[in-house]
Amino acid sequence: MAYKISEDCIACGACAPECPVEAITEGDGVYVIDAEKCIDCGACADNCPVGAPKAE
Ligand code: SF4
Ligand code: SF4
Repeated sequence: MAYKISEDCIACGACAPECPVEAITEGDGVYVIDAEKCIDCGACADNCPVGAPKAE
């Protein structure tokens, strides 16, 4: 399991510093989560203004 950022992402950057394992990086237009690093903690979803990160 890992979280995945949907196309709803507005690239605000709020989630990246909240990730304890630095799994979130800025991608092409949206931020992306490295599924290999994600530990499914939910911090990104909690800090996203548009609810873009979703548990897969
Ligand atoms: Fe990082 Fe947690 Fe979000 Fe996974 S669920 S990307 S570990 S903040
Ligand atoms: Fe995108 Fe939400 Fe992260 Fe902002 S907090 S970069 S909108 S996923």
